[in-house]
Amino acid sequence: MSVTALRNRWQQLSEPVIRRLQAEKLREYLRRVVLPFSAHYRKLFQEHGLDAETFRTLEDLQRVPFTTKTDLLGTTAEPQRFKDFILVPEQAVLARRPETVLKALLHGRGSVRQGFESEFRPIFVTFTTGRSAEPTPFFFSQHDLDNLATAGRRLAEICAAKPEDRLLNTFPFAPHLAFWLAHYTGTAGGLLTLSSGGGKVMGTDGTLRHIRKLKPDVLIGMPTFIYHLLHQAAEEGMRCENLRRIVLGGEKTSLGLRQKLRDLALEIGATNLDVVATYGFTEAKLAWPECPFPHDQPSSGYHLYPDLGITEVINPQTGETVAPGQAGELVFTPLEARGSVVLRYRTGDYTDGGLTYEPCPYCGRSMPRLLGNISRRSEVKEMNFDKIKGTLVDFNELEHVLDNAPNIGAWQVELRKINDDPLELDELILHVQKINGADEERLTRDLNERCSARVEIHPNRVLFHTAEEIRILQGVGVALKEQKLVDHRPRVEVVKALTTTANAIACGAVQAGGGTS
Ligand SMILES: [Zn+2]
Repeated sequence: MSVTALRNRWQQLSEPVIRRLQAEKLREYLRRVVLPFSAHYRKLFQEHGLDAETFRTLEDLQRVPFTTKTDLLGTTAEPQRFKDFILVPEQAVLARRPETVLKALLHGRGSVRQGFESEFRPIFVTFTTGRSAEPTPFFFSQHDLDNLATAGRRLAEICAAKPEDRLLNTFPFAPHLAFWLAHYTGTAGGLLTLSSGGGKVMGTDGTLRHIRKLKPDVLIGMPTFIYHLLHQAAEEGMRCENLRRIVLGGEKTSLGLRQKLRDLALEIGATNLDVVATYGFTEAKLAWPECPFPHDQPSSGYHLYPDLGITEVINPQTGETVAPGQAGELVFTPLEARGSVVLRYRTGDYTDGGLTYEPCPYCGRSMPRLLGNISRRSEVKEMNFDKIKGTLVDFNELEHVLDNAPNIGAWQVELRKINDDPLELDELILHVQKINGADEERLTRDLNERCSARVEIHPNRVLFHTAEEIRILQGVGVALKEQKLVDHRPRVEVVKALTTTANAIACGAVQAGGGTS
């Protein structure tokens, strides 16, 4: 079986065939695309005595050093390091290729030039969405946009969209992957698509007007925003009976939240609704979806595209690849990317279920799948959220606890210092919207117990809010992304400066004291 089968039969191959064809495709990709035209990897491979021929099996990929987010960040000496990762083709190398000569003979030089332009010239850019670091640009050529369209079409296919479906894309208008992938899911998937621009552009009211007009079958967007949207729709007594699929991205999605979305959908008359999640990141230039699954069963995981990239799961401490089904950090290597290219990219995201190649129990497709929950630890680290009251807190778990807790709708975790004094202890305030008319005292007790049991920390205070108040707290209609975790503690630098000042004063006092004795 040749490597083209990887593309044509991406959802029908067995593990040994996938691994063999991916290794073959990787070798070709390195030889023809990455090593001749990537300044960064040419140098890195030379330093490590590697070349394309090193890669005979997929295990050989482990010889390539990892690339991390930090490698792409600018430094004072090299402010634009992301540029080293952009492929810059050399005309001379391309011209020498036999197929170039043949194409020039058959179709003329103009056609050859056009082909190279379309393959390599960056024409589109998205940015990473990290909160503290400067956003890093990631470049696409037309070839990459074609692959993004392929990923969009497949997403529509796996989510079982029908050609007559109408899709409302509520991701914010932004140079971020999520918006564009949702756009291509509709357009390349052949669905009537309306992109509302999300809460910041249209507000919840504006988006609801679109729902009334379009009567979408499929809703795509971020979980928190869609929650508010459906909550308000239900409050206003709106009907949208034909809504049968919600596709979530941009944040993680718990089973409890899916149930809350289905309950709200029921209130607007959508009785047959599936909620599926996607997982993707800027550096992959695509995202992978779940397929619809029975509501009382677990998800069958994210369906990966073996022709577009290789996903590895590694032990984050040793860097070694773990066995199938084992938890670990996700590492991605593209097989078709042009423009910005990163190999063995460490995502900082963790899967607790690992990889499987077994055919999907629900849709029957045979492809690698990522099982279990994915936590984006990098984001939590970036916000210094991992340490509260001096204790290491698993915020991903805390989010799951809150999303799964019954009788609460939207929520927000706020960190402060007691009395706003930077030298005081951390304080965790939990803002919640209670639903189903629950008793506040009992709910507070229940939330405290759930938090203590699962994350070994409990909130200092639980404050109850109306849906509207929570919308304001989370910045619905104002922020690009609704805020579920906010840190109102003084910034570390401020604390350091204050501590230094305090120490200096103390030292001064000691010295002054010493001088008098
Ligand atoms: Zn499936």
